[in-house]
Amino acid sequence: MNKKTLRDVDLKGKKVIMRVDFNVPVKEGVIKDDTRIRGALPSIKYVLEQGGKLILMSHMGRPDEKGITPDTTMKIVADYLGKLLGRDIVFVPDCAEADSAVAAMKDGDIVMLENTRYHKEEQAKCKQKDGESDEDFKARKAALKEQQKVLAKKLASYGDIFCNDAFGTAHRAHASTAVITKYIPVSVSGFLLEKEIEYLGNAVENPVRPFVAILGGAKVSDKLAVVSNLLTKVNTLIIGGGMAYTFLKAQGHTVGSSLCEDDQVQYARDMIAKAKELGVNFLLPVDNVAADKFAPDANTQIVGQDIPDGWMGLDIGPKTIALYADAVKSAKTVVWNGPMGCFEMEKFNKGTFGVCEAVAQVKAAGGVSIIGGGDSVSAVNKSGLADKMSHISTGGGASLEYLEGKQLPGVVALNDK
Ligand code: AMP
Repeated sequence: MNKKTLRDVDLKGKKVIMRVDFNVPVKEGVIKDDTRIRGALPSIKYVLEQGGKLILMSHMGRPDEKGITPDTTMKIVADYLGKLLGRDIVFVPDCAEADSAVAAMKDGDIVMLENTRYHKEEQAKCKQKDGESDEDFKARKAALKEQQKVLAKKLASYGDIFCNDAFGTAHRAHASTAVITKYIPVSVSGFLLEKEIEYLGNAVENPVRPFVAILGGAKVSDKLAVVSNLLTKVNTLIIGGGMAYTFLKAQGHTVGSSLCEDDQVQYARDMIAKAKELGVNFLLPVDNVAADKFAPDANTQIVGQDIPDGWMGLDIGPKTIALYADAVKSAKTVVWNGPMGCFEMEKFNKGTFGVCEAVAQVKAAGGVSIIGGGDSVSAVNKSGLADKMSHISTGGGASLEYLEGKQLPGVVALNDK
C-alpha cells in the first residue's frame, strides 16, 4: 500500500486519535460478535507499546435512522475492550466534549469517545424534504457540511496523529473517517485497514491467475458496478443467488416467481455480451432448487435453467455446485461476495456451503481466497471453514466499493508514503 501506516511514524508521547470500526451487534447490552473489536487489537496494542496516548472513536448502529438507544452506546464497547486489554479505559459521553479527558492523559492511556453518529454532522446526510425548494435544500446541505467541518476539527484537536483502522467505513467521507485529515498534521493507516487494502488491492489489480470471482446475494442492482468492473479483471465470473435469475431471464429463460429485476434485464444482457467480448468465462446456474413458497417448509424440486410458473429459485442445484466448485478449485485467486441461495434456510443452503468448501481448498493449494464481507462472511463462519480462507473482510460495503474500482475516501485522505 502506498499510504503511511502506524509503523511509519514516531508514536512516543504522541496523542493518536484512531477511527476504529466498533460497529458490533449488541442486544440488551451484550456484544454478540466481537470480531471487529479483535480486528483492531494489533493497532491498539502497537500504539500503547510504542508509548503513545490512544483516543478511540467509532460509530455503532444507525442512530440517525433509529434514534439513540441503550444498545448503541460505545460505553458497552469501552467496558468490553477494557476487560480484553486488562486495563481501564476512560469513557467520554460526548465525542465533541473530550478536551479535559484528553488533557489528563498519560502515555499508554486510552480514552474512548461516545458514538460519533450521535452527532448528525458526522455523516452530514442530507435528503431534500417534500416541498423544500432546491435553494433551501442547497443551503441546508451547505450548512450541514460546515457543521461537519467543525466536528472534524474538534476531533482532530484531540490528537497529534490520526489513524484510520476502520475499513468498514472507509467508503464514507464522514467527519471521523476522512474530513478529520484536513485538520491534523499526520494521517496514517492502521494495520487492519492496511491488510484489507493489501488483500483486496492485490486481488483486483495484481491477481495471480486464474482469477475467479463469485457474486451472489439478493439483487443485481446492488452489484451492477461490481459485475462490470470485475469483468475487466477476472478469468471467470460466477453468478449465483437471487441475482442469477435476472441473468437467466436475459438469456430467455423463464424465472417463475424467483427474485428478478425486470429493469436490469437489459443490463444483464449487456454484461453477458461484454463477458464474451472480453473472453471471460461467465457462469450461470445450470440447475436450481425451486420452491413453491419462500419458507423453510416449502416443497422443493430440482429444475434446469427454466423455473416453472408458481415456483421460485432459492438455491443453485447439484450440477451447478459441481460446475462452480470445479471452476473455483482451478483458481489461484478467488474473491467471493454474496451467498448462492437462501442459506439461512436449511433446504436452500447447499449451494452456498458447497461453494464455500471449494473456496476453502484454494488456500490449501497455494492460492489466495478472499471473502468480501456481509452475508458471505456469516456463511463462512456458519460452515466452520473460516480458518481455511486467506482473508475475511470486515467491511461488506467498503469491499464492494473497492471491487467496483472506486477509491475509498477514508483511504485516499491518508498521507502517502
Ligand atoms: P445481499 O445482501 O445482496 O448479499 O443478499 C444476501 C441475501 O440474499 C441473503 O439473505 C440470502 O437469503 C438472499 N438470497 C440468496 N439467494 C436468493 C434467492 N435465490 N432468492 C432470494 N433471496 C436470495
